[in-house]
Amino acid sequence: MRENEVRRNEVLVARHAAAVFDAQLEFIGTIRTPWTSRLACPRQGRADGPVCEIEIHQPWVPALAGIAKYSRLEVLYWLHHSRRDLVLQSPANNGEVRGTFALRTPVRPNPIGTSIVDLLSVDGAILRVRGLDCLDGTPLIDLKPDRALFTPIAPPQPGDFETG
Ligand code: SAM
Repeated sequence: MRENEVRRNEVLVARHAAAVFDAQLEFIGTIRTPWTSRLACPRQGRADGPVCEIEIHQPWVPALAGIAKYSRLEVLYWLHHSRRDLVLQSPANNGEVRGTFALRTPVRPNPIGTSIVDLLSVDGAILRVRGLDCLDGTPLIDLKPDRALFTPIAPPQPGDFETG
């Protein structure tokens, strides 16, 4: 398997001139994992996977205050080696294709990956976690407490309990 290949029946698009490319993401850290090749990475992180490190860059280290009380975090990262132009993809490379948004493929217009990780420790700017699936050096976009563990701190707001 080649990295960034276009497979049989896959469809790529030219980014149109009016596309807005201005989210201005700031990479707030770097993820350290044992994987240096995409082909060696697991497809999804596992709770029994290797311990990995998330290094937070200044000036964002103080934003970790309070995070240690959460045993699980949601991690968002930028899959920086991904191509970004496929609309139909063939994950099994057998000619059968599915839409990009029906897949968790790293190949997407905005290559954002997410993982739920177990938080093992916080030491200054370094978090040790299990459950990642990305390359060593992958840029970090955001960290949040796992939503299942998080209780909003502000009082309830109108709309919080609406259904449908
Ligand atoms: N868990 C995330 C998700 O579901 O959003 C990512 C899943 S994606 C299938 C994981 C794969 O992305 C890995 O197996 C590897 O092939 C690829 N990958 C990992 N780090 C990457 C990076 N920095 N740039 C491009 N591809 C990467």
